[in-house]
Amino acid sequence: MIKKIFVAAATLFIMLGGCKKDSSISPQLGKDDASFTIYENSFLQGLWKLDPDRATGAGYHKYDSLLLVPDDKSRDKLLTYAKIQLDSLSRFEVTTLNEANKIDYHIMENEMQSIEWQLQQLRAYQWNPSTYNITGTFAYILNEPYAPLAKRLRNFYEKMANIPAYYKEAEKVIKNPVNELTELAAGQLTDGLDIFEKDYGDSLKKANIPQAEQKQMLDRAHASADVIKGFAGWLKTLKNDRPRSFRLGKDLYSDKFKYELQIESSPQQLYNAAEERKKMIHHQMLVISKKLWPKYFGTKAMPSDSLDLIAQVIDTISTKHVQPGEFQPAIENTLPKLTAFVKAKGLLTLDPSKPLIVRKEPGYMAGVAGASFSAPGPYDKNGNSYFNVGSLNGWAPEKAESYLREYNNYMLQILCIHEAIPGHYVQQTYANKAPSLIKSIFGNNAMIEGWAVYGEEMMLDNGYGNDEPEMRLIWYKWHLRSVCNTILDYSVHTENMSKEDGLKLLTREAFQQQAEAEGKWHRVTVSSVQLDAYFAGYKEIIDLREAYKKKMGDKYNLKDFNEKFLSYGSAPVMYIKEAMLAKEVQPPN
Ligand code: ZN
Ligand code: ZN
Repeated sequence: MIKKIFVAAATLFIMLGGCKKDSSISPQLGKDDASFTIYENSFLQGLWKLDPDRATGAGYHKYDSLLLVPDDKSRDKLLTYAKIQLDSLSRFEVTTLNEANKIDYHIMENEMQSIEWQLQQLRAYQWNPSTYNITGTFAYILNEPYAPLAKRLRNFYEKMANIPAYYKEAEKVIKNPVNELTELAAGQLTDGLDIFEKDYGDSLKKANIPQAEQKQMLDRAHASADVIKGFAGWLKTLKNDRPRSFRLGKDLYSDKFKYELQIESSPQQLYNAAEERKKMIHHQMLVISKKLWPKYFGTKAMPSDSLDLIAQVIDTISTKHVQPGEFQPAIENTLPKLTAFVKAKGLLTLDPSKPLIVRKEPGYMAGVAGASFSAPGPYDKNGNSYFNVGSLNGWAPEKAESYLREYNNYMLQILCIHEAIPGHYVQQTYANKAPSLIKSIFGNNAMIEGWAVYGEEMMLDNGYGNDEPEMRLIWYKWHLRSVCNTILDYSVHTENMSKEDGLKLLTREAFQQQAEAEGKWHRVTVSSVQLDAYFAGYKEIIDLREAYKKKMGDKYNLKDFNEKFLSYGSAPVMYIKEAMLAKEVQPPN
């Protein structure tokens, strides 16, 4: 999992408006790379004005004090902006741009088409109340120390001015919402109230702001909290006779899949590949489990059901785990081992100048405990990278035990590979060296997650963990999570899969605990396509590596592939593929 400090996810496009005139490219401009770079800049400037929340999350702070009311007028402005950009893009001949700009072009085009589609077809602003959760951006402004505290607190204050109008409009626009998303929104907004009711006031005490002004600021925060409470209450009591289903349906799913993942496969193809992979993994797991059985169970008879057999071996291995207080130190101890291994095997070059800081997960980020990686924002490439570790403090012993068994001694190492080395942290370090702002702002999630998954397997394939069968078995379990996420997401949103069947898939075929499976079921009812990213990206990278091997013949080597792949930044794998497989043009003799 990766926790970008990007507050504004793809769904936030609806918060817009405010700009007077669009800065489209003037037609007389040249069509070369230099003019494309100039155009990219105006493209972003225009977008930030129309989506200040997204700007804040990207680390662009000019519009921090703006909260746009999500009305027809602001949606029209964004739609017009997207159409103008698509027209401007069409004036460039994409084939004549250099490699990096070519990829940017495709990303920008996809982004604008996606905005059109979201506003005209998806229309989540009508049926997904959780798109009206503004807490994230306010929390970001309050907690991220990118500017002096007093300045951030004043921007926060200004931004609150539109909160009443914002929620008045939201109540007007929402029609027959999805029940699950309505509940989600009410819960999230209630959870976020502390930002306005408590955290803002606490921070005011630490800032050097005159008393009278402070009082004004505090009053507005309390009034804002009341408005948010009012909206959450409105959601809870909303009469909704014909709620929309949480299932997206085949057509919208296939469009969303295209815009969000930007991969070569269709949803059906990816689903088929996941089913096949699941079978292959089950087979491998059975082979390993049979081999390990005598070591853990002696002469006890093996269960006849192969999934039961695998589950029992996994359960037994999972009892090797750290104690609650050792979780963070165990992570800190693992990282240098990973670094040493990557170096010894020459898998790729690591950059020691951008260290990874392991820290306790900051309170305002805490959601599901566990671990996540925070990357510096696109406008702050020299910022710190963090490995956030959730605390198990105050957990019921039974819950903590179940969690620690999940993150047993083997899984903990896989987690570190995924989040850090050579996973997210290393990928991010390479991406920050690629000069394009476009690629970091619109970072492709399938590529990012796919790389982390690919990295796990690559480490094991190169002998990480002394080729211990336990390590491989636990990795297969972890990997099944990605694979089954894809099967679940597709089946639920396009094939009407029941909750019962979904839970059975996760608990029996992916060896998950009931609580984890229930959590995943909840997630699939409030999101779509997101869960596909891990397996989608992994599959594309593996396919690309095969093709690249073929192209390079005996000149192929793994380090070269890894470094070249990462050098393009967080771009969709299909465009990296286009660049990596391009035939080198031979200079004429
Ligand atoms: Zn991840
Ligand atoms: Zn235990």
